[in-house]
Amino acid sequence: MKAVVAREQGGRLEVEDLDLAGPGPGEVRVRLRASGVCHSDLSIWDGTLGGSFPVVLGHEGAGEITELGAGVADRAVGEHVILSWIPPCGRCRYCWSGQANLCTAVRERQAGRGHLSSDGGPVAAGLGTATFAEETVVPVEAAIPIPADVPDAVAALVGCGVMTGVGAVVNTARVAPGESVVVIGCGGVGLNVLQGARLAGADPICAIDPLPGKRETARHFGATHVATPEDLLEVSRQLTEGRGFDYAFEVVGRSSTIRLAYDATRRGGTTVVVGAGSRNDPVAFSAGELFSTERRLVGCLYGSADVRTDFNRVLRLWQAGRLDLEGLVSRRIGLGDVNEAFEAMRAGDVVRSVIELP
Ligand SMILES: [Zn+2]
Ligand SMILES: [Zn+2]
Repeated sequence: MKAVVAREQGGRLEVEDLDLAGPGPGEVRVRLRASGVCHSDLSIWDGTLGGSFPVVLGHEGAGEITELGAGVADRAVGEHVILSWIPPCGRCRYCWSGQANLCTAVRERQAGRGHLSSDGGPVAAGLGTATFAEETVVPVEAAIPIPADVPDAVAALVGCGVMTGVGAVVNTARVAPGESVVVIGCGGVGLNVLQGARLAGADPICAIDPLPGKRETARHFGATHVATPEDLLEVSRQLTEGRGFDYAFEVVGRSSTIRLAYDATRRGGTTVVVGAGSRNDPVAFSAGELFSTERRLVGCLYGSADVRTDFNRVLRLWQAGRLDLEGLVSRRIGLGDVNEAFEAMRAGDVVRSVIELP
């Protein structure tokens, strides 16, 4: 089967013929129909997030189950699924206590169980899903059934960007109607934080991005006000009577913007770190400010989602017209176009490029 392979960090991506083994016990084979190109793919490829090479990237995918491994009883061939890059085991302390996004049990079970190889040896599966491919094999817990009539591109985007962004507001922060929100970074995930804030009834909703085009798009997804990073503190003074925002969402993944988000949060407010940053990018806070302003600084992994229920919850909101998912798709591309999709993402030209497979 064909897949997009990154042979080395930052090197050109090529479509190659790979062998895909399995499914083994507890796994399913999925024929991919669509895969979004997410910023985290770029960050794995350029080394920001670490990981091994060669690798097949892609973790925002949807498709159809074509084969069941031994012991898989609760899925069916032909079922449409969204892939989850954090598969919840359903049997651990995290899964039992409403924090399924923190489950590591399935990943530990799968460790070393590589399915991809070429003539030159094994190929890693980025984030365990490897969706820049015609097919993939994943643990059954990573394949979440959805209605068959959901368009493939819409389904794919729910698998990472939409779930992360909307989940950051409704699950991680639990923003209430009338609370003020600022979102720093208006890429694919940031726009979903904005529409999550709109869904939650937040007001005002301020979008911060250096690029004018992204600020315009932000208005469509729910921003009531937009500004550049330089103007943020002035806008905050105007919109919040100088207090700062109830919630600041950092959706860039850099120490400088985390610091900016914290500074834009009111005393007692909450700063939510949604962006996927590097382990080698420390953020500085003084001991005094952390205790005396009582701001909460919280991480957000995968929108604090329980994918077993939240994927379909997001789809129902989309069907009800409460979330715009089609509007996130800027370009529909083929497997061979990922290099260009990365370039467009770096230039800020697109919200999402989505690979569609016939
Ligand atoms: Zn992603
Ligand atoms: Zn678990």
